[in-house]
Amino acid sequence: MDIEYTIAEEAFRAEVKEFIAANHTEEIRARSAKSLTGYINKESHVAWQKALHKKGWIAPNWPVEYGGPGWSATQKYIYETEMQMAGCLRPVAFGLKMVAPVIMEFGTPEQKAQFLPDILETNVWWCQGYSEPGSGSDLASLQTRAIPDGDDYIVNGSKIWTTMAQRADWIFCLVRTSTEGKRQQGISFLLIPMTTPGITVEPIVLLDQTTAPDQEVNQVFFEDVRVPQANRIGDENAGWTVAKYLLEFERGNAYAGALQGGVARIREIAKQERYDGGRLIDDPAFAAKLAQCEVTVEAIQYTELRTLSALSAGQRVGAESSILKCQGSSMTQEIGELSVEANAYYASPFDRGVLDAGANVAPIGPDYSIAAAGRYFNQRKATIYGGSNEVQHEIVAKRILGM
Ligand SMILES: Cc1cc2nc3c(=O)[nH]c(=O)nc-3n(C[C@H](O)[C@H](O)[C@H](O)COP(=O)(O)OP(=O)(O)OC[C@H]3O[C@@H](n4cnc5c(N)ncnc54)[C@H](O)[C@@H]3O)c2cc1C
Repeated sequence: MDIEYTIAEEAFRAEVKEFIAANHTEEIRARSAKSLTGYINKESHVAWQKALHKKGWIAPNWPVEYGGPGWSATQKYIYETEMQMAGCLRPVAFGLKMVAPVIMEFGTPEQKAQFLPDILETNVWWCQGYSEPGSGSDLASLQTRAIPDGDDYIVNGSKIWTTMAQRADWIFCLVRTSTEGKRQQGISFLLIPMTTPGITVEPIVLLDQTTAPDQEVNQVFFEDVRVPQANRIGDENAGWTVAKYLLEFERGNAYAGALQGGVARIREIAKQERYDGGRLIDDPAFAAKLAQCEVTVEAIQYTELRTLSALSAGQRVGAESSILKCQGSSMTQEIGELSVEANAYYASPFDRGVLDAGANVAPIGPDYSIAAAGRYFNQRKATIYGGSNEVQHEIVAKRILGM
């Protein structure tokens, strides 16, 4: 097997590095370094995505006909790795990686023309309205109702844990359009502008006490919200198929680049932190943990490359996305834990003032310690969102292992 990069691929890597140096500005880098959630202020997030779009690189996995760059699997891999190793801000997934593939697969030509260019250009911020109070893992029990009224639906109900809904221009929603037959057969997939009268967004304040406009999750309420039926993707009552297709993309997200970046940063910290008269990196117990992380991350990377090559060959991600979701999210947490261990006492202080962008408060300890504990706590979410890991284990058991 030839695992050397070609001259053209190395030239592409150099181009990616050059682009990052020129466009991932010091302001964005500083904000990202302090972010506990992976989000920074909306304006800077959008500016970074627009820079990627201008270069033609915002949607590596989109087909060329919709504006994708037409890269080989190796180019996608190089791009993703370089971006994550450099600690670059990740583009928001809701539009580019979730609703866009759904619109490409199930949308009408009019819907494709209306929504895809704005997603590509980051003119709209999307959020995901799947979960409801009482309907998370058991998503098919959802009760937000959409009742036909002329050419519209009237929507009533509530969605919960809606990430960044306070920033969103549009929400993609699962709604109940029938109570007949199997629960899965009465669900439709609707696109709704967040400015529609009757929609209210209320923040859910988490343990880190981040408040509006930067808090992460919300509850969204719908009271007699009028939505054109033309905003439905796919047939009425066929939303479950659409929903599951989207989840393959949500769960099959690329983790390896970010994990490699995380391991590399811990290695740098361990070279600087003292331990028992020497450096932490020389402690055999710590070095063994770091090596174990590296081995697992490499295994995840090869699984992702396999998925990527299947996608390039026109195949679906399928239930294998559940394996990636479990492995990627668990490793995210393990690396977060190791980072706290490497930072030792300096991980302890939690000072919101220091975390705020542009703060001139001196941190207790080195800069790399500022976000370590906050991230560790925030990362508890990774094994819950996108479908909890326990539920993903069941999918793997049933649909891959045939148990
Ligand atoms: C930070 C964060 C952001 C989120 N963002 C969004 C978003 O933007 N949009 C959105 O729609 N949703 C979002 N979610 C919701 C997320 O998808 C749900 O929290 C998740 O699906 C679990 O549902 P639940 O919270 O209702 O827990 P429950 O379904 O009540 O589960 C509770 C516990 O029981 C376990 N369990 C449940 N069923 C089974 C089973 N069959 N077998 C074994 N164990 C089981 C679960 O693993 C879990 O440990 C987000 C969640 C978090 C934490």
